[in-house]
Amino acid sequence: MYKSFDVARSKPEVNPTSAGGSTPPKALMFHAIYRNPGGEEQSFANESKLLESIGYETVHCTTENSKISRGPWAAVTAVFSPRVLVDALRIIRSERPDIVYVNNLWPAFSASLLVAARAAAIPTLQAVRNYRLATPSAKLRADGTCTECGSTNYFTSCVRNGCYGNSRLQSLVCYLSAAAVKISVLGWKQHRFVATSAMTARLVEGRLIDSGRVVVRPNFGFEENEPEFRSTDSVVCVSRLTPEKGVLDLVRNWPQGAGSPSLTVLGDGPQYGEISSISAALDNVTLAGFTSHEDVIEILRDSAASVVPSQWAEPFGRVAIESMSVGTPVIYATSGALADIVGPGGTPLHTLEESSIREALDRIFGADDRSAIRRSAYRHYSNRFTSRKAATSMRELINEVRS
Ligand SMILES: [Zn+2]
Repeated sequence: MYKSFDVARSKPEVNPTSAGGSTPPKALMFHAIYRNPGGEEQSFANESKLLESIGYETVHCTTENSKISRGPWAAVTAVFSPRVLVDALRIIRSERPDIVYVNNLWPAFSASLLVAARAAAIPTLQAVRNYRLATPSAKLRADGTCTECGSTNYFTSCVRNGCYGNSRLQSLVCYLSAAAVKISVLGWKQHRFVATSAMTARLVEGRLIDSGRVVVRPNFGFEENEPEFRSTDSVVCVSRLTPEKGVLDLVRNWPQGAGSPSLTVLGDGPQYGEISSISAALDNVTLAGFTSHEDVIEILRDSAASVVPSQWAEPFGRVAIESMSVGTPVIYATSGALADIVGPGGTPLHTLEESSIREALDRIFGADDRSAIRRSAYRHYSNRFTSRKAATSMRELINEVRS
């Protein structure tokens, strides 16, 4: 079960410019690390770097979900944990932060964290990176239906169907823990949910969350200079290997034969074995497994295109943004927010059938001027998704919750 959290701190990158400011403002950041760490851990690191870039000292409070045992008490504390409430109040009182930033609070931290921040009157930003606020499975399609049961009735259908972990009890716990979060922040003027796209915001707004409480602030990249054009012929897919991500069908239907570009898949997950055995039989597909973030950026830089084949309402778009940041166009599935995020920085992938994949590849590889496609990808990134732009909106957001 949850014992306590680990605390680590980082100094700001720049000197604070506040009047007479010798002490930088402080952000107390919370993140419950997933059993299978992935994109949300990288996002937590990025948000921290962003806050440090605008002069904040950051204090990270993390706990590992993998250390939680299952059982009746774990179910209760996923909804509300008295122990977390006490610990969070203690650290808020000793650190006296200017803001609290909550990345992921499920299940180890629970709504207790928000109750503590509210009791101490600390302005709080809470990231929305999946749909757990709406449904136990945390995965929705763009039309609002759950990817597991196909229903929009998240209580009666998702709980009865066991959409989280194939378990009715665990799904009920998820539903109640989301309800506890929504009730904890009801009417709290110094709290905002921060969603990564307008679609994510629309899908989580509901009976207990009105639209003014969810602000949209897209993910971002740290590249600030136009990349050099490197001529390559390989395509990369960076993804968790889970069914809703669409990687299995992408690999299965990847075009074969002379002139077909090669595909490298970077990532790990439950479908690793299945994807590995399919790719082993293909000449031009390689499954490289988990790859560090630094290496992912370099491989993106050296690729002719990246592909995001997600079949759910992908709220994230971080890999797409990182791809454009190094001038690599994105072949994106049209099922989620990616069409809005990528736009002129890539080309759509309408289905995961071979003919569709071929058409998308032809638009990249058959272009008269491939360097123009790369410039367009980078230009779209630099117009919308640089860390400098994200820093400006972070400042505005903090001013909004602190006023
Ligand atoms: Zn469901």
